[in-house]
Amino acid sequence: MSAPDEKTFYLETFGCQMNVHDSEKVAGTLLSQGYRQVASVQEAGLILYNTCSIRDKAEQKVFHRLQDFRRLRAQGKRFGVLGCVAQQEGEQIFERAPHVDLVCGSASYRHLPHLLAEIEAGKRATGLDDRNSGQTFETEFTARTNPHRGYITIIEGCDKFCAFCVVPYTRGKERSRSSEAVLAEARRMADTGFSEIQLLGQNVNSYRDPLEKTTFAELLMAVAEIPGVRRVRFTTSHPRDFSRDIVEAIDAVPALCDHVHLPVQAGSSRVLQAMRREYTREQYLERISWIQSAHRDISITTDIIVGFPGETEREYEETLSLLELVGYDSLFSFKYSPRPNTPANAYPDSIPDEEKGRRLTRLQELQRKISIRRNLRHLGQISEVMVEGFNEARGQWIGRTSQNKVLNFTAPPASTLERGAYVPVQVTATLPNSLLGVLVR
Ligand code: SAM
Ligand code: SF4
Repeated sequence: MSAPDEKTFYLETFGCQMNVHDSEKVAGTLLSQGYRQVASVQEAGLILYNTCSIRDKAEQKVFHRLQDFRRLRAQGKRFGVLGCVAQQEGEQIFERAPHVDLVCGSASYRHLPHLLAEIEAGKRATGLDDRNSGQTFETEFTARTNPHRGYITIIEGCDKFCAFCVVPYTRGKERSRSSEAVLAEARRMADTGFSEIQLLGQNVNSYRDPLEKTTFAELLMAVAEIPGVRRVRFTTSHPRDFSRDIVEAIDAVPALCDHVHLPVQAGSSRVLQAMRREYTREQYLERISWIQSAHRDISITTDIIVGFPGETEREYEETLSLLELVGYDSLFSFKYSPRPNTPANAYPDSIPDEEKGRRLTRLQELQRKISIRRNLRHLGQISEVMVEGFNEARGQWIGRTSQNKVLNFTAPPASTLERGAYVPVQVTATLPNSLLGVLVR
């Protein structure tokens, strides 16, 4: 329990990696303002939800959570809604959940100190109006949760306006940080012991250096060459902006990880056009062929939406055939969810939910078979893993390969391993979603 005059906060994050990292920056900002982070709603004076509105389910979750905690208002606790639902719903949140004190979208986080002062003074505060400013949220106060793997947002927002997606409305226009700022942050992180750096953006490879000093591929290489940096990852790549020099960079620089996440969404060019994705099936497959002809064994993952308005059975089958053709290592798959403000929201959501469910299940069953096949190629290989933890119940160490696969492994009892260490592990068995192995000494 916290002292009566102590400022404490509880922060829960929903949604993507960008939100996870935004939460690290929000937490850092609150700590710098004299708040202490606590692990439960009960202990906290201020309860914050960093929200996601990418699908209806994600949004409903937040409102249910807020309803559940209505009674805590009587105990003097304050509530804040941050992130995409905050930006999308704006002040209407105060109507749906009157016990909320703060509503703040991601483009306004740099105003948090001022907004916090307002709610401390008993007022309601909103930060909603900065989506189209050229500024990105940079703060020296990021409270990174993992001491070995650190995130850096290099580009915020999105200008692509896919027909189904809320991101351009909730996160505003695309704006890149300068290569100097990115490299300075990466150097600081390497100096304080981070050996893996993940560059983030809704479309990370749409990065355009405002200083015009580097391309995205050159930035990847420059981060990877910083002393102390052992691994560099980047997510998410947009197929339209995916250029061959990214694959050449991975081939040339060992610290660039062997993994590309390249969301396709659908396998039919007609559906891709209706989705406004700005590439065809053939253009997407061309990019895949660049990745697959690299010297390194680069794993490929994707995102798929099934049941987009008007998707016929035949068009859906084209997505299945694309899965076979590419041979993805794994994927995230979703039923189409109509979202407010988006162009597709005006199209009739013509495919019943049960049918979307059937398409999703069949797709996931197919991918499971493909993942089993893909993972088999690692059998017997020795891979370097970063140690992420230890599973007491199974007596196994948890590691992650350069290809972003979980490799659980055993080590002789005498071996002393630390989280964040890099060790060689031989793969002795493969499962659909992970690998098993033994430490090699
Ligand atoms: N910028 C990335 C891209 O263009 O590939 C994707 C970012 S989005 C935050 C993550 C994923 O959510 C998308 O790739 C898509 O598969 C899914 N998604 C977005 N809007 C959706 C919707 N309305 N219904 C279902 N899935 C959706
Ligand atoms: Fe959404 Fe499309 Fe932008 Fe990705 S590229 S964030 S799917 S609008």
